[in-house]
Amino acid sequence: MRGPILPGRERAGRPGREGCSRREFLAAGSILGWLPFFRPKHIELAGARFRILRNGDVPRRYLLIHGNEETAREVLTRHIQAHEGIAYVIENHTREVAIDGGKLDPNRMFSRAGAAANLKRLNPEWPPEQVEAALAVLDRGREKLARALLAPRGGLTIALHNNSPAYSVADEEPISDAGSIREPDNPHAFFLCTDPEDFRKLADSPYNVVLQQKPAGEDDGSLSRLAAVRGVRYLNLEVALGHATRQKEMLDWVEWHL
Ligand SMILES: [Zn+2]
Repeated sequence: MRGPILPGRERAGRPGREGCSRREFLAAGSILGWLPFFRPKHIELAGARFRILRNGDVPRRYLLIHGNEETAREVLTRHIQAHEGIAYVIENHTREVAIDGGKLDPNRMFSRAGAAANLKRLNPEWPPEQVEAALAVLDRGREKLARALLAPRGGLTIALHNNSPAYSVADEEPISDAGSIREPDNPHAFFLCTDPEDFRKLADSPYNVVLQQKPAGEDDGSLSRLAAVRGVRYLNLEVALGHATRQKEMLDWVEWHL
């Protein structure tokens, strides 16, 4: 039950005018959002600053998260000019980004546990208070960044990576729910997906693919793991550094079939 509005409360809160100005504020915000000039061109967390490249308004997101994966950068920057979606391209050119004078792998910052393990590993000289302070910075901005990078419901986020000889689909197979290895002699080129329906289609492709629908193993703080936890469609596209033609070919396959 609502009590009578007291004169004093009326003066202090001005409920009528507040409602009106709030509507005006929201309307202005949505209009500004339509004007390209007012849309943010960057989003950042700690030293990870992403340039936002927009093309149309479909629920597809693309991501380059490791700055030293220059082949993926080149493929994605060209791809977004001809395909609709929003691409987030990290601006620095090293794998790790700066944080409080130390280093952080940006694909380990999407959970507190993953970020803590990575900060301790990369900055062994840091006292515990410094790790805590860096984690607090990440805690404040993590959700905003995750919401931008993960596609809205029904959409798909595609992250492009380049790997070194030390990492291949062989590392992911044992911790995956399913796999289809069509190119056993080319283990560095593969897809990693979180959605069973995407896996079913990708398993029909001529390429390697693994499904990680349920997060397994320890929480590494990667975006693919967060996507699996939240039930969001997510796809990693991995090829060896320098293999631009192959990465473009696999990305084109995804555009046609997913
Ligand atoms: Zn990477």
